[in-house]
Amino acid sequence: MGDDDSRNAEQAEQTVESRRPPRNLVGVNSQATAQPDKPRDSGKPGESALALTRRARRMARILAQTHPDARCELDFTTPFELAVATILSAQCTDVRVNQTTPALFARYPDAESMAQADRADLEEMIRPTGFFRNKTTSLLGLSHGLTTQYDGEVPDTMAQLVKLPGIGRKTANVILGDAFGVPGITVDTHMSRLVRRFGWTTETDPVKIEHVVNGLIPRKEWTMFSHRTIFHGRRVCHARKPACGACTLTKLCPSYGTGPIDPTAAARLLKGPRVAELAEAAGVPAP
Ligand code: SF4
Repeated sequence: MGDDDSRNAEQAEQTVESRRPPRNLVGVNSQATAQPDKPRDSGKPGESALALTRRARRMARILAQTHPDARCELDFTTPFELAVATILSAQCTDVRVNQTTPALFARYPDAESMAQADRADLEEMIRPTGFFRNKTTSLLGLSHGLTTQYDGEVPDTMAQLVKLPGIGRKTANVILGDAFGVPGITVDTHMSRLVRRFGWTTETDPVKIEHVVNGLIPRKEWTMFSHRTIFHGRRVCHARKPACGACTLTKLCPSYGTGPIDPTAAARLLKGPRVAELAEAAGVPAP
C-alpha cells in the first residue's frame, strides 16, 4: 500500500468512526464460535456467539444475492488440471493462469506425462505466471507424488492431499470443493482480510480462520461461501480502498468506513464485469 493510500484510509476510518453510531460488533473472538448463546470470552463485548452466527449467516445470504456469478474462475476439466491451475494461481491472476494452461495441458494432460516433463520446458511454459522455478518444482513434485502413490489420480481427502508436494490446505480445499464437491473454506488473502473486517475473528492464521468460518457457516455452503467472499474481496472490499459506500454489507459490517462512504466515490471503486449490478444491489448510482 502506498503511503498516501494508507493515510487516506486511516483518515477516512477515523472520520467515519466519529460520525456513525456505535456498533458492538467489533473484535470477535473465534474461540466462542462453537458455543452458541454464550458470550465470547474475549474481544469486545456486546455480541453473543449466537448473535455472531446469525449476523454471519445474514451476511452470507447477502453475499449470495450480491454475487450470483461467483464460481471458481480457473479453467479445468479434471482434478489434476485444477490442482495444477491452483498451484499456478499463487501470486498470479486467474486470467493469466487461464491463458497459460491450455498449451500446458495439451502437452502434459496428466500426472504421468507431467512427471516426465523436461524441467526447462515446463519452466518456460509456466513462466508468465511468475515464480516459475518454484512452481515447476511443485508441479514436478505433485506429478511424481500422484504417479507413485495414487496411480496418477488426485485423491479426494484433505489428509491425502496435504501430504502431496505443492499442496497446502488452501489448494486442497479448492480441489475438494470444486473438483470433488466436498465442502471446504478456502482461506486466501481475500477471505483472510474480509472475515476480519466482518468482525468474525481477529485471527490471522489461515487454519484458525478456516475453523472460525466452519463454525459460523453451514457445511454445505462452505465452497460457495468461499467463492462469494473472494468475489466480494476482488470486486468490492478491496485491500487498499474498500468500496464501503457501495457495499451490500454496510449495515452488518463493523468495518464500514474503512473505505470511502460517499456513494459516488465508492461506486467508482467497484470492479469487475458487474459494476452496474453491484451498485444497484447496494442502492447507489452506477458509476
Ligand atoms: S462495508 Fe466496507 S469493509 Fe465492510 S465488507 Fe463492505 S466494503 Fe468491506
